Amino acid sequence: MTNGKKKKVVLVLGAQWGDEGKGKIVDVLSRFFDYSVRFQGGPNAGHTVVFDGRKVVLHTIPSGILQPNCSAVISNGVLVDPDVFRRELETLEKSGVDFRGRIFISPLCHIILDFHKLLDSIIDKRSNIGTTKMGIGPSVEFKVMRKGIRIKDIFSNSLRDKLKDVLDYAKTLCKALDDISDFEHYFDINRVEKKLNEFGEVIHDFVFETDILLKRSINEGKRILLEGAQGILLDIDFGSYPFVTSTNTTPGGALTGTGLGPKDIDLILGVSKVYTTRVGGGFFPSEINDPELSQKLREIGQEYGATTGRPRRVGWLDFPMLRYAIRVGSIDLLALTKIDTLEKFGRSLYVEEYLIDGKKFTEFSPLIDVQNIKTVLKEFRTSDIKNIVEDLTGVKTVIRSYGPERENIKFDEEFYSFLVS
Ligand code: GDP
Repeated sequence: MTNGKKKKVVLVLGAQWGDEGKGKIVDVLSRFFDYSVRFQGGPNAGHTVVFDGRKVVLHTIPSGILQPNCSAVISNGVLVDPDVFRRELETLEKSGVDFRGRIFISPLCHIILDFHKLLDSIIDKRSNIGTTKMGIGPSVEFKVMRKGIRIKDIFSNSLRDKLKDVLDYAKTLCKALDDISDFEHYFDINRVEKKLNEFGEVIHDFVFETDILLKRSINEGKRILLEGAQGILLDIDFGSYPFVTSTNTTPGGALTGTGLGPKDIDLILGVSKVYTTRVGGGFFPSEINDPELSQKLREIGQEYGATTGRPRRVGWLDFPMLRYAIRVGSIDLLALTKIDTLEKFGRSLYVEEYLIDGKKFTEFSPLIDVQNIKTVLKEFRTSDIKNIVEDLTGVKTVIRSYGPERENIKFDEEFYSFLVS
């Protein structure tokens, strides 16, 4: 049944370092879609959605689940943490969200095991990347080493054999890196197997071949919203390496993470705040270095991590960085968030270009000497933000967000017609 509507597959990507407010944009858009899909990353993504005055933070389950018409799909590229997933189901239950028959999870998703988190802490102590220590990096590493445990393995007779191999390997690795004498329980096969079997009972009814589901739905004219986690500047290939996440946040990640093909995606919407934030280490050319000023913006914008509570670093809107994100993310249209924050903050500046050794750069490049970037700042009236962004990027701004609630949003008329047609 197509209800006379044309199929639409829209990909939403963060155009900065994550925390752009994608959760809210996806929540608002999902009422126009049949499926909302998470396709990469793990529970380090924290989407905060405020509806009916209630605040719901989701880490794995797409926020589309909060719209009654929309089903939530967790496709093969997502790393699933059993503890987090169970807590999210409880959150949904407590919030009165009826999710029966509306959650689908791919049997090909890799599972984050407890030792992955241990390994994450051990590795981060040495590298200072500032990961969330939730085991996402190590579980991707084990996936690539062909030593991952997938959801389908929980339901197979070979689970114990696979676990034995993986736990032996992981224990040897952890021991070589650190003194782990207190951590034997991480490698106790009975304990790990029991936990996975219990998780299998919880998710049994949700497991479905999501690649088939999505392709079939596209053929039936259904509408699909693909929800990126983190942001383009955290992409493992094109981001600010090594201070990046362990998956592809650029459009390719949406393809390998779902099984869809490039021609299946109709439109890519980039989400950007009207200033910039960043969590963890790494360069940040537009960072506000005045502690008083940055604290004021952090407070007004409530810039504290949804998953960890960590204070975010804050800076001005950075056009060289945004232009780069638009290019490597093949972004067609933009959504701007937190305009209300900048309005209350009183000062509005943006970075127009970089100067490096006297040379101008209008677009960021991973090859430039980031230590020597000088930023050219311009002052602007916040009410002009739409025109400024469109003039300086050449990309149309179709959504403007003025607050955390669903109602605090303005759509471009043409884009709204596209959504409802
Ligand atoms: P995400 O991971 O990209 O979804 O971003 P987060 O959820 O980590 O951070 C976005 C935060 O900003 C959440 O607390 C949202 O409720 C809030 N938010 C989203 N859009 C707006 C906006 O336009 N104005 C304000 N004040 N808050 C917003």
